[in-house]
Amino acid sequence: MSNRKNIIVLGAGESGVGAAMLAQKEGFQVFVSDLGTIGDAYKAILEEKQIAYEEGQHSVERILETADIVIKSPGIPDHVALIQQLKEKGISVIDELEFASRYTNATIVGITGSNGKTTTTRLVHHILDVAGFDVGIAGNIGFSLAKQVAEKDCAYYVVEISSFQLDNMTTFSPAIAILLNITPDHLDRYEYQLEKYIASKFRIVQNKEAEQVFIYNSDDVNIQYGLEHYYNGNKTAICEISMRALEQESDIFRVPETDFELPTAALPLKGRHNCFNMQCAVLVAKKLGIENALIEKALVSFVNEPHRLESVITMNELEFINDSKATNVDAVFYALEAMTKPVVWIVGGVDKGNDYVSLFDLVTKKVRAIVCLGTDNSRIQKAFEDKHEIIVEVRSIEEAIKVATLYGEPGDAVLLSPACASFDLFKNYIDRGNKFKAVLMQQHKMMTEGIQVSLTINLTHNPVDGKLDD
Ligand code: ADP
Repeated sequence: MSNRKNIIVLGAGESGVGAAMLAQKEGFQVFVSDLGTIGDAYKAILEEKQIAYEEGQHSVERILETADIVIKSPGIPDHVALIQQLKEKGISVIDELEFASRYTNATIVGITGSNGKTTTTRLVHHILDVAGFDVGIAGNIGFSLAKQVAEKDCAYYVVEISSFQLDNMTTFSPAIAILLNITPDHLDRYEYQLEKYIASKFRIVQNKEAEQVFIYNSDDVNIQYGLEHYYNGNKTAICEISMRALEQESDIFRVPETDFELPTAALPLKGRHNCFNMQCAVLVAKKLGIENALIEKALVSFVNEPHRLESVITMNELEFINDSKATNVDAVFYALEAMTKPVVWIVGGVDKGNDYVSLFDLVTKKVRAIVCLGTDNSRIQKAFEDKHEIIVEVRSIEEAIKVATLYGEPGDAVLLSPACASFDLFKNYIDRGNKFKAVLMQQHKMMTEGIQVSLTINLTHNPVDGKLDD
């Protein structure tokens, strides 16, 4: 019988397989267990590395009897029976990020929040990359942190962290932590208690011993609540950024507490929310001693992920914008706010108990027609029936585009910003956004039949497990 400690990895996606690789490298006895089918690429890695695994089941007895530490996929909720049994037995259940961070001395920038994580994580990574840092990007993006630590450790990591990943954090403590915002989302994982969701987000700054820079939105009432109830980080250098201050439009983009400024026209992203994300990213860069000229070079060359206020094409004098990743009301608020022309708004999908009140003003001021795209649009209909005369129901992207084209007037924008999850009609938000783009491209091609069409659709982004949480 080996004396080596046993690590059981639950879930064999990007994070699970990365964790298994790192655990093996660090000398643990490793067993991977996945209730579903393991993807071929991941199975090949496990076989090549001779890591033991099972799929289609969890061998509960074996797991309970042998595990010293369990690393679970963020997709597995804490309340499932196996996790409860493990915890009752006093077995440590942690996340891949927590595990990986124990085996690297890298400086970690951790980014969490309800909206803006991917954008801000990519911004910070891009600035550090342009500045010549040895930097990796991880969390919900690209390769898992554990895989990178196991294969070629970097000096810096920029890590996107969801609240699911924070739930089982104990020692993980990023040198720089950003908390962008907290709006009600995913409450089904938190017994429908906002306080629990806030507490989870504050785990990013829970380690009181750590020297840490903490950057957050000072106007967010839920963050204020968290600061009062869940925060005691005396040694932390706090940097507050006010979203409200950005309400004053300015030709110059400035970053609080720094000497950085840039003409607003040169910025790569639209909208107040993105100005806030860029302020956070620049603040990190300044904390890490990066010169203004390099930050500017990085900002002006930044290209965001698709499906986030992505201008797809102008056709029939209408600009079509894909914001399929806007799966909650707050993201839609900032999308509508960022619109500088009248909007035909395509909204709908699986409503997660949305409260649309915060959108009423913007809809009255900016929206020409509401196109509801979903199998059950009753909640949206009800919310807006007294607010808007034109509400049309459709069941497909093709119909949505046709109706939007009918109601849009020259110079308008057609904005797909659904405020809802996509699972009624699509696989996920990426599928929804890609179909929107594909139909537009097809229509454009038909319109220009005979003429060489050289437009391409950006279908990148390959999210890792737990990411398609729309
Ligand atoms: P996340 O990774 O947290 O889901 P993304 O950067 O992918 O965040 O953006 C998701 C949606 O939220 C997009 O529609 C985007 O336009 C919007 N968004 C981005 N940043 C913010 C922010 N700071 N506040 C509110 N909404 C935002």
